[in-house]
Amino acid sequence: MIKENLNAVKRTIESCCKRTGRRHSEVTLIAVSKTKPIADLQEAYEAGVRDFGENKVQELLGKIPQLPSDIRWHMIGHLQRNKVKYIVGHVSMIHSVDSLRLAEEISREAVKQKTEVDILLEVNVAGEESKYGIAVSETAELAERIALLPGIHIKGLMTIAPFTADPEDNRIFFCKLKQLSVDIQKKNIDNVNMSVLSMGMTGDYTVAIEEGATCVRVGTGIFGERYYDSPVEP
Ligand SMILES: *Cc1c(COP(=O)(O)O)cnc(C)c1O
Repeated sequence: MIKENLNAVKRTIESCCKRTGRRHSEVTLIAVSKTKPIADLQEAYEAGVRDFGENKVQELLGKIPQLPSDIRWHMIGHLQRNKVKYIVGHVSMIHSVDSLRLAEEISREAVKQKTEVDILLEVNVAGEESKYGIAVSETAELAERIALLPGIHIKGLMTIAPFTADPEDNRIFFCKLKQLSVDIQKKNIDNVNMSVLSMGMTGDYTVAIEEGATCVRVGTGIFGERYYDSPVEP
């Protein structure tokens, strides 16, 4: 089933790109495998997936050694500073940087490990109180400050749009994130690149692609529903 789901998502992405005049290669599909057992990830891997997204440090660290080493792991969930040391050097991108203090911790650990870490700034575009993320109005200034830290590179922006029945409701937020990335790019800040726009999930990824997403994070649409009482949930 995973393979069929995956192919359906890929076809949808392709036709969406065609429709909007974008190249298919501009959009990376991240398979969000949180709560799912290794066998499911293996199946997705065999069907060609190389980008996996996880939102919990412990679960991520448990899965990495059980799967092939050419996988690019994306940390997409809220990250606590005391867990940074465990994932630096193991993930290809951290999508959820939302404070200077977190960025400083990542930088410190990167320097210590003599490595470099690519990150995205998580923006709370809709201003939802329940969500993590930087306010739109504070993002550029935070980018300028984080850009000065060693061992850490800002590659773009990420957002988690509101949960909604109609994906069209989120178009305005995706459009806003794109505009913000254009505005920040224009500032030409050293060590700040705005090439990645991580937005769109199962319910709204086509709208996100239409508005410029370069990374879509799809979980349910590939792996099926998540059951939070399952034993793999830490
Ligand atoms: C779980 C999750 C997703 C995937 O959600 P689906 O609706 O299952 O596609 C995407 N992004 C983040 C940050 C998530 O936590």
